[in-house]
Amino acid sequence: MGRVVVVGSTNMDVTTRVDRIPQPGETVAGSAVVFTPGGRGANQAVAASRLGAPTVLVGAVGSDGFGAVLHEFLRGEAIDVTCLVRLDSVTGTAVTMVDDAGENVIAIVPGANTAVSAAALDGLGLGPDDVVLLQQEIPASANAQALSRARAAGARTVLNAAPHRPMAADPLAADVRAAVDVLVVNEHELAGLVPEAAGLPHLAATAAVAAVRGLLADGAGPTADIVVTLGGAGTCARIGDAVVTLAAPQVPVVDTTGAGDCFCGAFGAGLAAGLPAATALFHANLAASLAVQRPGAGAAMPTRAELDALLT
Ligand code: ATP
Repeated sequence: MGRVVVVGSTNMDVTTRVDRIPQPGETVAGSAVVFTPGGRGANQAVAASRLGAPTVLVGAVGSDGFGAVLHEFLRGEAIDVTCLVRLDSVTGTAVTMVDDAGENVIAIVPGANTAVSAAALDGLGLGPDDVVLLQQEIPASANAQALSRARAAGARTVLNAAPHRPMAADPLAADVRAAVDVLVVNEHELAGLVPEAAGLPHLAATAAVAAVRGLLADGAGPTADIVVTLGGAGTCARIGDAVVTLAAPQVPVVDTTGAGDCFCGAFGAGLAAGLPAATALFHANLAASLAVQRPGAGAAMPTRAELDALLT
């Protein structure tokens, strides 16, 4: 079995509940404050680790209290944190206000995530069984370094292109996306990459997948598989020459936060376990449907036993 090596962000999510979102200049009382580990990189690492993959997180936190708490939390999730460095800066922090109607406003301070480097990959002895899993909450240059190191070592590469970075604002984006083995996007990110995909009804997304594949074929790496997550409609992918569509299980949804992260972590775990991509996709779709039945992101990730119970 290979490892899932996540190179990505680690945040503390600070969420307050308010009666209503304040106007500029206004102060309102918050009725609760909750601190939860977050960041797409950390969330995906938690998902992979809970599903039994040996998981490494390459990232950065600050020298503040949040950094210490996150380090401890991730170690407790059986994630190898030897490459999660503590820098002399603040830890990435997402501050959210949620009102009674479920509206929210969010400010994200990337902090130490802006200094994540892929250089640590050199010391990991990456090999063909390993899966390097990336997102877009660290600098594009770090993703580019990670991809070239992973490729040189023959490791599989998966890029969850979230959040969307406009090509114009990210000169490395086309090269980076062209160098991945599997690109995972949701419908909005897909529309950002391929404008003609905007507004397609869910089940017509196969056409959009084909469009994305064509987009990548214009770049240097024509072989990328494409996975499009479709929320409650499941997922749709182009793997090799096959188009795969999977409906999401009908489940009582409590909170979809982190569904995409669960999906990506589970997909990476499946690939690292040597499963064919289509089977890994099937597992990811089931795992994410478990995550949406619980509140929160990292805390909602399912365990191996929970996924196995659905598979038997
Ligand atoms: P987020 O940004 O909240 O992490 P996302 O937009 O990246 O999510 P989605 O496409 O919403 O990701 O969902 C990812 C996967 O989660 C879906 O492909 C599906 O497997 C599962 N999922 C999401 N919503 C539901 C739902 N309502 N019921 C069942 N499964 C769901």
